[in-house]
Amino acid sequence: MADEQCIFCMIAQNKIQSAKVYEDELCLAFLDIKPATKGHIQVISKTHSPIFMELSEAIKNKIFTIALTIGQTLIKKLNATGVSYIINEGVGAGQRVAHSSIHIIPRYENDEVSIGWPEKQMSQEEISKYLNEIITKITSQNPSEVSAKPEPKPVEKVEEKHKEDIKINPRIPKYW
Ligand SMILES: [Zn+2]
Repeated sequence: MADEQCIFCMIAQNKIQSAKVYEDELCLAFLDIKPATKGHIQVISKTHSPIFMELSEAIKNKIFTIALTIGQTLIKKLNATGVSYIINEGVGAGQRVAHSSIHIIPRYENDEVSIGWPEKQMSQEEISKYLNEIITKITSQNPSEVSAKPEPKPVEKVEEKHKEDIKINPRIPKYW
C-alpha cells in the first residue's frame, strides 16, 4: 500500500531518486540529504504507515534489525564513536513525513548534534507521587502490586488503548 502524496512512498517506488544503501522486499535505507552527521541514514518500510505499531510484525522486525545492523556498520566503516537511533512519531515529536522512519545518526567527537531534554528535579515525595501516577495510568495496576506480582503484564490492553488513541488524536502529520 502506498500513499500518492507521500514522499517516502515515492522514494520506495523509485519515483524520486535517493541514495540507497540497502533494499529488500519490505524496507529500504537511504542517505539523508540533510545529514546531521556524516553517514546519517533513514530506514523506511515500503508499506505506507505513519505509525510503526500499525505495520506488520514481519516489517517491524525487519526494519529494526536492518537499522541496528546499519548502525554497527557505520561505527565500523566510518569510525563513528557511537550511533543515535531516532524515531519521531507524531507531530508533537517533530515527525514531518507521515511515513514511519528510523534515523540512524553516526556520532563523532564534537559533532554538535544535540539530543537532550531538561531533567526535572523532584523531591522524594514528588517522585513517589509521580511513579504511582504513571505506573497506574500505563499498566492499569496499583503500583504497590507491581513489585509483589510482577507477572501479569497487560500488553494487549496497552496495544488496544494505543490504537484507540491513534484514531482519536490528530497526531499524524498531513503534509511534508
Ligand atoms: Zn508513505
